[in-house]
Amino acid sequence: MNEPALILILGDQLTPDRGAMKDARPGTDTIVMAEVREEAEYVPHNRHKIALVFAAMRHFRDELRSRGFTVLYFDYEQGKRSLLEALAAGLQACDAAVVKCCEPGEFRLLCALQQWQLSVPLQIVEDDRFLATREEFSRWAQGRKQLRMEYFYRLMRRKHGLLLADDGTPEGGKWNYDSLNRQGWRGKRDIPVRPPASIDRITAEVLELVMREFPQNPGDLSQFYLGVTAAQAMEHFNWFLEHALGDFGQYQDALAEESPWLFHSLVSMYINIGLLDPLRVCREVERAWRDGKCDLAAAEGFIRQVLGWREYVRGIYWLAMPEYGERNGLGAHRPLPQWFWTGDSDLRCLQSALRQTLDLGYAHHIQRLMVIGNFALLAGLDVEQVCDWYLAVYVDAFEWVELPNTLGMALHADDGLMASKPYAASGKYIQRQGNHCKQCPYSPAKITGAGACPFNSLYWHFIDRHLHQFRANPRMALAVRNWERKAEPERAAILEWGEAELARLAPGP
Ligand SMILES: Cc1cc2nc3c(=O)[nH]c(=O)nc-3n(C[C@H](O)[C@H](O)[C@H](O)COP(=O)(O)OP(=O)(O)OC[C@H]3O[C@@H](n4cnc5c(N)ncnc54)[C@H](O)[C@@H]3O)c2cc1C
Ligand code: SF4
Repeated sequence: MNEPALILILGDQLTPDRGAMKDARPGTDTIVMAEVREEAEYVPHNRHKIALVFAAMRHFRDELRSRGFTVLYFDYEQGKRSLLEALAAGLQACDAAVVKCCEPGEFRLLCALQQWQLSVPLQIVEDDRFLATREEFSRWAQGRKQLRMEYFYRLMRRKHGLLLADDGTPEGGKWNYDSLNRQGWRGKRDIPVRPPASIDRITAEVLELVMREFPQNPGDLSQFYLGVTAAQAMEHFNWFLEHALGDFGQYQDALAEESPWLFHSLVSMYINIGLLDPLRVCREVERAWRDGKCDLAAAEGFIRQVLGWREYVRGIYWLAMPEYGERNGLGAHRPLPQWFWTGDSDLRCLQSALRQTLDLGYAHHIQRLMVIGNFALLAGLDVEQVCDWYLAVYVDAFEWVELPNTLGMALHADDGLMASKPYAASGKYIQRQGNHCKQCPYSPAKITGAGACPFNSLYWHFIDRHLHQFRANPRMALAVRNWERKAEPERAAILEWGEAELARLAPGP
């Protein structure tokens, strides 16, 4: 097709030669990019996220211009309210015969795009940055009673030939080394110090803009730590390969007072906005293992997250939306406490995870799942409010990945579509995984009485609240048995204490 196209690039589509940029022709096609108010304001995004996306967009614009493309760029100060408004201005400025846009990562936006009335046809292009297509996932899911990630992951390992021996069997003889990746943190290793972000003129301007325009949003930009170009993202990833991957495996599930990052990769945000290629990072990790730089459990653990979980949650999202977003299988409606927006909790593990989340837009998986998510699950916090909170506060949050992780994995609100049992745990789990409890006014050993860890009574309160449902779930049998084995007066005391804990959750503003 030789007709000139106007190509709309969204803030999380910053990959040259992919999506709508595939086959794009400098000199013929025009690119339009816009920092629009509707997208920046629909939840109170963490300032780190807004800064990352705007700075990365501006650098991407300059890269495209240096490749000879005409790029119409509307920055935030120009006040474009919506993508449609930016597109209309773009169409006036060039003689495009077609508008091309890569499919967005959010159902809401896809619906909006499909409704647009433009003066030329709109062509929505498949997002080919993922390792499984939406159709491939649907085919795999069809007719299955349970959609277990593990089986999908094996399919993906075979499809992309990752960590396979010559005969096609998994390296080391097992598909999954998760059992080796659960060590708690006892402070026995030095945690490597990450290099600071390099902030050039463009990024500095964006940081100022974000401080000025988003005064109420969370995020301490004096600690801005992110790369904003593909080259910088790759540098960060290479730093991870060199300094953290070796310990990533065993401490993947650990919780540390000393560090928000531990040995995690900090690459989700780069992959999600298109600065890093998911297959490339998997191949680099495999190579690091083959070169003897990490053990197999670390390499497999990392590849499972990117090739398995990341693709799987995207598959679930597109398979089940829009009704997925409405689910609330455990009937959780308690208002989100106001301190989720300040981090002012006296529960040390929660305080630590919330504060770093608000300040940095980052918490690692176990903090999101087993500290904040677990608390929200046990306390029965309102599913929609919790999902909105997760979408707002994390630098890597885009609905296709945030929603299944929060609604499905953390809150078990999807009637078990993603997980066969809730990820519910008492304070003992948090104690085992790290060193927060030592700094906490509560004791994980106590269930009731002054100083009892609130996770404990809330855990049993949760089991009791949903006893009817859980009795029907063989994977909850042990928890149910342990609850029912307790003497009636003990159960009553625990429930009473749990009620008191719930009562002290102040409602949101
Ligand atoms: C309640 C909840 C909400 C979450 N919300 C998001 C979100 O909005 N955006 C997001 O990208 N991830 C989300 N995750 C998944 C995961 O927590 C983050 O991807 C991870 O913490 C990012 O940090 P990292 O890059 O240091 O990851 P690492 O621990 O180093 O893992 C490596 C990579 O694996 C991928 N990955 C790992 N777990 C998952 C997962 N469950 N789903 C998708 N990708 C995964 C990411 O690309 C990540 O960069 C969420 C998890 C939970 C439990
Ligand atoms: S005692 Fe309970 S609330 Fe305190 S840090 Fe440990 S698990 Fe968290």
